[in-house]
Amino acid sequence: MDGPSGSGKSSASKGVARALGLRYLDTGAMYRAMTWWMLDQGVPVEDAAAVAAKAGDPVLESGTDPDAPTISVDGADVSGPIRTREVTNAVSAVSAVPEVRARLVALQREIIGTGGIVVEGRDIGTVVVPDAPVKVYLTASEQVRAARRAKDLAADPGATVTVTQAEQARRDKLDSTRKASPLTMAADAHEIDSTELSLGEVIEAVVRLAKE
Ligand code: C5P
Repeated sequence: MDGPSGSGKSSASKGVARALGLRYLDTGAMYRAMTWWMLDQGVPVEDAAAVAAKAGDPVLESGTDPDAPTISVDGADVSGPIRTREVTNAVSAVSAVPEVRARLVALQREIIGTGGIVVEGRDIGTVVVPDAPVKVYLTASEQVRAARRAKDLAADPGATVTVTQAEQARRDKLDSTRKASPLTMAADAHEIDSTELSLGEVIEAVVRLAKE
């Protein structure tokens, strides 16, 4: 399941995994964990060469239970810290570095193994698993996406809908214009626009596709 930020991928992917008894992998959390680690180590994230030189260092582990997904770096749970605005605003720079992508795509393929998993991200249908049996590209209007993101960041007083919308537009632009695996819809993906759909309706639509 690919799509831009705030399209509802996480809730939908977890829901589909639960409904079908499958595992779940949030690849965005892996890019966020890599970014959190770079910031924590004082690596200048806008310096692609500095990021590339360190891309192999952190030990990342992802739990794949859709009811309790986990992400850790060097043995420490970072599920909370990877959701801060600081990480969110730095992640596009880190994920644009080819060495970071090569490392994380290899890790993702290892976890995916022979399948039985719902994987969410930006390049899953195009790069990570081009032969996935079901590909979904989830979208939503820019306003609905910003409102969802602001809700996620409700604890941060600076994260108004307007600010979130601007930060999100910047991130989407970086994610879809970078050289390495830019966000695009796979030619054989099913596009679902979730603007007017409830979460239950999105899950139902994907489950139907998976059962076809
Ligand atoms: O999905 P989420 O918004 O948590 O992803 C965070 C960031 O990780 C994205 O903005 C993008 O830069 C990067 N990402 C990526 N490829 C993926 C998943 C996420 O480049 N498969």
